[in-house]
Amino acid sequence: SIASVYADVNTKESKDYYEYDNLLVQWGVQDHYEICRKVGRGKYSEVFEGANILTKERCVIKVLKPVKKKKIKREIKILQTLNGGPNIIGLLDIVRDPQSRTPALVFECVNNTEFKILYPRFTDYDVRYYMFELLKAVDYCHSRYIMHRDIKPHNVMIDHEKRQLRLIDWGLADFYIPGTDYNVRVASRCFKGPELLVDFQRYDYSLDLWSFGTMLAGMIFRKEPFFNGQDNYDQLVKIARVLGTAKLHAYLKKYNITLDSHFDGILGSYQPKPWSKFVGPANKKYASPEVFDLLDRLLCYDHQERLTAKQAMEHDWFKPVREKESV
Ligand code: ATP
Repeated sequence: SIASVYADVNTKESKDYYEYDNLLVQWGVQDHYEICRKVGRGKYSEVFEGANILTKERCVIKVLKPVKKKKIKREIKILQTLNGGPNIIGLLDIVRDPQSRTPALVFECVNNTEFKILYPRFTDYDVRYYMFELLKAVDYCHSRYIMHRDIKPHNVMIDHEKRQLRLIDWGLADFYIPGTDYNVRVASRCFKGPELLVDFQRYDYSLDLWSFGTMLAGMIFRKEPFFNGQDNYDQLVKIARVLGTAKLHAYLKKYNITLDSHFDGILGSYQPKPWSKFVGPANKKYASPEVFDLLDRLLCYDHQERLTAKQAMEHDWFKPVREKESV
């Protein structure tokens, strides 16, 4: 299996482009920043709001927990590669505490509203607008040969007043080199594509389109997360209850995948469930034949059948957004 687009990093770029192991980091000065308050903690970091002491510019400081040097280099290399791209979080500086030598990444600050509060307030047009903005970031990273591998609402910062969106958390992102077997332990459970759940390692950018599609379904049906598995096995069961089991078996057959024995007896046999069955009074304002068609083209078991980010941007559902942009 090979990506249908952007599968030519080998011929288009030199090894320095994607080999991050020999990256030399230019460390900035930690004392240039002050920490104001804690804004979040992740698996791999503690995140603070801060400010540049000299310019007074607000920033977000992500202090990394002790993880492998190689992982830190990968995140930095990817952030530097994508810096300045559309709706990609801007990296302002990389600093290190002189005593602990703990690295910290300094980012532009987004005045984000938590998605559980924000999304229910969205109009139908808002959902189209922000999902289009997100696709700009996704297509851009893919065009630079990078898969994000952790797309989910937590990693999409939105300043609704400015109507500004930024894709953050590049800690799991990696370069796509055709023919590479990747670790399937990426993405958050509810956003994991079928390829990860069936242990298919030769995945590509299309993984991000699954996670994007799952996020879209969550917003459209006001069901967050849309596929809510209790563990990685149950996650595939939750998907199969919506997409049906016949297409899952066809997918496994096409790629010669044998399921782990943990799946014995839990998958059952389901018919595909039409999207209209998820529509109710609370979400009917978002429902349309166009968005159901888009969901059909993103949430496919077969990663090769999914739309690319660019194709998704050309979908009819985004027509109102494209028309507004072109004036
Ligand atoms: P996780 O384990 O959740 O993936 P992580 O350790 O990889 O987290 P990030 O996801 O980069 O760290 O950041 C953690 C949290 O900090 C985010 O969910 C968000 O709430 C906040 N945050 C990070 N960057 C910014 C930013 N530029 N502007 C505003 N808030 C931010």
